[in-house]
Amino acid sequence: MKHYNVIIIGAGPSGLMCAIEAGKRGRNVLIIDHADKIGKKLAISGGGRCNFTNRNVTADYYLSENPRFAISALKRYRPSDFIALLQKHNIRYHEEDHGQLFCDNSAKDILAMLLKECEEAGVTIHRGCNILKVGEKKVFQIETDLGSYTADSLVIATGGLSYSKTGATPLGYGIARQFGLKVIKTDPGLVPLHYSNDDMKRFKSLAGITIKAEVSLGKQSFRENILFTHKGLSGPSILQISNYWGKGKEIEINVLPELDLLQYLTDQKLKHPKKLLKTILTWILPRRFIDVTASLWFNNRPIGEIPDKELKNISSKYSQWKFKPACSAGYDFAEVTLGGVDTRELSSKTMESTKIKGLFFLGEVLDMTGHLGGYNLQWAWASGYAAGQYV
Ligand SMILES: Cc1cc2nc3c(=O)[nH]c(=O)nc-3n(C[C@H](O)[C@H](O)[C@H](O)COP(=O)(O)OP(=O)(O)OC[C@H]3O[C@@H](n4cnc5c(N)ncnc54)[C@H](O)[C@@H]3O)c2cc1C
Repeated sequence: MKHYNVIIIGAGPSGLMCAIEAGKRGRNVLIIDHADKIGKKLAISGGGRCNFTNRNVTADYYLSENPRFAISALKRYRPSDFIALLQKHNIRYHEEDHGQLFCDNSAKDILAMLLKECEEAGVTIHRGCNILKVGEKKVFQIETDLGSYTADSLVIATGGLSYSKTGATPLGYGIARQFGLKVIKTDPGLVPLHYSNDDMKRFKSLAGITIKAEVSLGKQSFRENILFTHKGLSGPSILQISNYWGKGKEIEINVLPELDLLQYLTDQKLKHPKKLLKTILTWILPRRFIDVTASLWFNNRPIGEIPDKELKNISSKYSQWKFKPACSAGYDFAEVTLGGVDTRELSSKTMESTKIKGLFFLGEVLDMTGHLGGYNLQWAWASGYAAGQYV
C-alpha cells in the first residue's frame, strides 16, 4: 500500500492549488479525481474565459452561516497573488465591470498553468480513479479502483453539486458526515429562476431579450442585466439574487433603474400628449417587452388622456415589477452550491477539521458561496493556498 504525506480528492481549482503549495513544501502529494479529463468546470468558467478573481474581494461578498470564516484565508492569498502567478506564466488578462478579471484568451490557459505548477512541485495525479472507501486508523486509508493508499493528511476538494456533467458528486459531504462533521443544507446558487405557469404564458415570447435592471429581495439588490429565457429569467442580476431567493419569495425588478419613469412620463405627457403611451415606452425599453407588458399592465391610449394617478400606477409596474419564480433551474444549471460542510468545525487558518486531525476541506464543498464575479474561484485559490501551507 503506497503512502503519501497528502492525498487530495478532487483536482478542481482548490485541490490543484493546495497540491502545488504542499508540493512546493516538499510534501509527497497525490491527487485523485474520478474524471478522466480534469478541470472541466474551470474550462467552461466565465463563458470559457474564466473570471478568475475580482479586485474587490472581501468576505462581504460571501454567503455562509459563518461568513467571517473566509476573512483569514482571503487576506493571506489575495487577487494580486493569483495575478502574479498568471504573470509568471505570461497569461494575459483584462478587467471588466465591477472589478472582474478575465483571461484574454481561454480558461484552459489557467488549467495548463496549474498542471504545470503541479508537475514542477512533483505532484502525482490519478485521473479516472474512483474512491471506494475512506477510513482512518492512525493514518487515512483510501481504497480506490486503481489501488489502496495511505496518507497523513486527507484533503477533500470535491466541489459542490452544480453542473453534474463536469464531474460533481456528493462524495465530499458523505466523507464529512462519515467523520461526524455537520453539513449545512445545500441548494443551487447563481442559478436561473423559472416562471410560474401563468408567467410562462405571459413572458415566454420574450426569450432572448436583455434589459439592464435592478433586482431586489429584502436588503439585497443587484444592478446588472436580466435575460429572458424560454423558461424564466437569467442574466447576472438574476443569478446574483438567486443566492438569496427561496421558494415562495417575491423578487422586485426595476427595468429602468437609471430613470425616474414617472417624471419621464409626466414630461412626455406635456411634450407629446397625442402619442400613445406604448410608443413612448418603446423609446426607452425593448419593443417586444412593451408589446407584452402593455397588454398586461395598462390600457393603451394617448398619454395626454391618462390621468397622473394612473401614470404613477403604470410607472410602478415597471419600476417595481413583482416577480415570483416557481422554482430555480436546479443544480445542473447552477454555477455554485449554497451550503455545504459547516465551517464552524474547521480552522479558518488551515481548513483542518477541529475534530479530526489531518482532515481538510476546501473550496466549494464548504459552506462558503461567493457572489458572481470571480469570488468563487478566489475562494478556491485562497482556501487551497491556506491548507497547502499546513497539510
Ligand atoms: C458554468 C460555470 C461557470 C463558472 N464560472 C465561474 C467564474 O467565471 N468565476 C468564478 O469565480 N467561479 C465560476 N464558477 C464557479 C467555480 O467554477 C467553482 O466555484 C470552483 O470550480 C470550485 O472549485 P473546487 O475546487 O472547490 O471544486 P470543483 O471545481 O467542482 O472541482 C471538484 C473536483 O472534484 C472532483 N470530484 C467530484 N466528485 C468526486 C469523486 N466522487 N471522486 C473523485 N473526484 C471527485 C471533480 O471531478 C472535480 O475535478 C463557475 C461554475 C460553473 C458551473
